[in-house]
Amino acid sequence: MKKGVVLVMLLLIPFWSEAWGFYAHRLINRLAVMTLPPEMLVFYKRHIAYLTAQAVAPDRRRYAVEDEGPRHYIDLDVYGDSALFKVPHRWDQAVAQYTEDTLMAYGIVPWHLNLMRYQLTEAFKRGDARAILRLSAEMGHYAADANVPLHTTQNYNGQLTGQHGIHGFWESRVPELFATDYDLFTGPPQYLENPQEAIWQAVAQAHQALDSVFALERQLTTEFAEDRKYSYEERGNLTVRVYSRDFSEAFQRGLQGQVERQMLASIQLVSNLWYTCWVDAGQPDLAPLASFKFSDQEELQREQDSSADPQESISVRPHEF
Ligand SMILES: [Zn+2]
Repeated sequence: MKKGVVLVMLLLIPFWSEAWGFYAHRLINRLAVMTLPPEMLVFYKRHIAYLTAQAVAPDRRRYAVEDEGPRHYIDLDVYGDSALFKVPHRWDQAVAQYTEDTLMAYGIVPWHLNLMRYQLTEAFKRGDARAILRLSAEMGHYAADANVPLHTTQNYNGQLTGQHGIHGFWESRVPELFATDYDLFTGPPQYLENPQEAIWQAVAQAHQALDSVFALERQLTTEFAEDRKYSYEERGNLTVRVYSRDFSEAFQRGLQGQVERQMLASIQLVSNLWYTCWVDAGQPDLAPLASFKFSDQEELQREQDSSADPQESISVRPHEF
């Protein structure tokens, strides 16, 4: 292994780790489609390739769009110990209490999701297939991010506690190794009487899972020597340092199904939100929209976007993926 190459890759790794990993985001949207009732499936299944591929569009955009980053997380702990009870769930009240600049600085995922809910409901009412697809795919992304414990803390990558890399470990490495063994099948979506609260509940559940994430990684690190904690893998023609399979297995076991639970919760929240928007729009007939096609130019643009490497034109936190 060439030392120089490894060193370069270590420096780049934060830019490689992606929220829930691209793999998990795509899987979550895909499985959410499969839960839908026939009246929605007629449209969603036809466009499952788009909904799966575009599950990662918000992460790709982060490099180009200044305001994108904060939509993926909320650093709840900056608001104090009882943040979950203190921070207003309504955007206007939260702005009044903390100012918009503060909210943007520490992340807005629950509020942004609620805004998208209005937008998706309106798109259903208009019968706007293009907007329904875009909003559904991207809402799936943010709803999944809201279920990731490390998206709810300022110590998002263990950088404040000497646990650097824990973000990608939890949401990329572990699912990529073990998600094929997860039981991710869930029943039909539930109508959310209070979607805003359901979103906040998801964030709260993710936040409450944080203690065990940090504690377990710390404990395992004392049990594993450095050369057993990490291993090296070939990615294309590069050698990268990764958490070893043994260490990952011990983490997965010690978390007692936490990653699987959060992934399942993500799928449920995504499908519940899609379904609730459709019901709130008056359950419009989606069958006529099934044959919708994006223009050749739109398809081409999308292909270019997804094959291009993200440009790091804006300095971002790994957390924001
Ligand atoms: Zn994200």
